[in-house]
Amino acid sequence: MWSRPRTMIDRSTAIGRTARGFATLLLAAAVAVSASVNAFAQGVPVVRDAEIEALVRDYARPIFKAAGLANDGIDIVLVNDQSFNAFVTGRRLFINTGALVTAETPNEIIGVIAHEAGHIAGGHQQKLRDQLDRAKTMAIIATLLGAGAMVAGATTKSRGLAGAGMGVAAGGGEMAQRSILAYQRGEEITADRSAITYLNATGQSGMGMLKTFARFQSALSLSGTQLDPYRISHPMPQERIANLEVLVKASPYANQVDPPALQQRHDMMRIKIAAYMQGQAAVARLMRKNPTSLASRYGDAQQTYLYGNPGAALTKTAALIKEQPKNPYFQELRGDILMKVNKPKDAADAYAKAVSLDPARSGLLMVSLGQALMAVGTPDSIKKAVTQLNNGIGRDKENAEAYRYLAQAYGELGQIPAADLATAEGHFYSADYKNAKIFAMRAQQKLKRGEPGWLRAQDIINYTPSNKLK
Ligand SMILES: [Zn+2]
Repeated sequence: MWSRPRTMIDRSTAIGRTARGFATLLLAAAVAVSASVNAFAQGVPVVRDAEIEALVRDYARPIFKAAGLANDGIDIVLVNDQSFNAFVTGRRLFINTGALVTAETPNEIIGVIAHEAGHIAGGHQQKLRDQLDRAKTMAIIATLLGAGAMVAGATTKSRGLAGAGMGVAAGGGEMAQRSILAYQRGEEITADRSAITYLNATGQSGMGMLKTFARFQSALSLSGTQLDPYRISHPMPQERIANLEVLVKASPYANQVDPPALQQRHDMMRIKIAAYMQGQAAVARLMRKNPTSLASRYGDAQQTYLYGNPGAALTKTAALIKEQPKNPYFQELRGDILMKVNKPKDAADAYAKAVSLDPARSGLLMVSLGQALMAVGTPDSIKKAVTQLNNGIGRDKENAEAYRYLAQAYGELGQIPAADLATAEGHFYSADYKNAKIFAMRAQQKLKRGEPGWLRAQDIINYTPSNKLK
């Protein structure tokens, strides 16, 4: 088993607790509810990782732009699930780590994003999408995974849902059709055509999309013991694949391959997911093709860190940094290792480098820096930690964990109203509204009426979660 690593943060516990209520209500409105609703809504596994989020955002940005969708501020939500799934709402892209680790090239993921963007631009199921888009992130994930889990329960063995999911899956096609993400065949063809338009506009090939969909098509013809939610929501009859193939091959960019630098980032992402989420055998499998590639050595360094040899991991990471001195995530890994061996000052230096090198300005790296500065523990470093944590939250407003560290930092500085407000925010973004209100009221007692903190506390006190789809 892997220890709790810092780099990839699994939020399953926090979200699981909150997801239950939301999922029940949203699904009740959207699909026929089965007894398994509460079971599968527990432990929705969201993962945070600066490197992967930045990469997927880089995949999505040009496509979203070509599709005329929001071209900045794309939220990436990584779902730690080994099945294949991807889904776009107006400003959020949900993608399973299983999809990312399966795809051998960036182009395969970019193709899937292009197809999903086609659904949005086509206004398919727009009403539902609007509603999902307005809902809070956690509620959406719970709903989507819930819909998937009903038909794909067989793949989620580790969460003890296999039984429930299987039972529903046996009920068959009807449930799949009712899945909130199930599209009509006509919409699939429209989305495919739109996807090709976006890929052409960005000078990219449709081969990856074709490869992915063809894989689903052939897999579907097998007995179907491994049902991916994406396959269920996207009908892939033979004629659709045949039509798509004609479009893809007619494109002047049909044989365009991903830029080598992007492929390298993709390879590094895959091996990272393998190291943190799948274990040593999966890493070994990915390394086998090219054991000396940068991605392989990255995977090796991560594995060495995760499986308990920080000293050797530091040496391996130093070699990576030497090769790509401007890679922020090598610095992040160095920071993680240094935190593990209780050298917070050195870790803070590494994270500070990561922050300064990060073109995506991820809030996660800022929060890591803030944590390291807190661990240093001098009054001066705690003040700096407050600044970094607030910077991180500024980039990433829903990061509940960051508020908890911020509360601790304010507490250590004796700024109690600010600590109470940060605690309230932490509970709020974990959807623990009861405790959020308790701490918001505590904060208000010590704040001046009408000042920004007081007003924010009032917002939390007044908040009522809206559970309705209509
Ligand atoms: Zn589709």
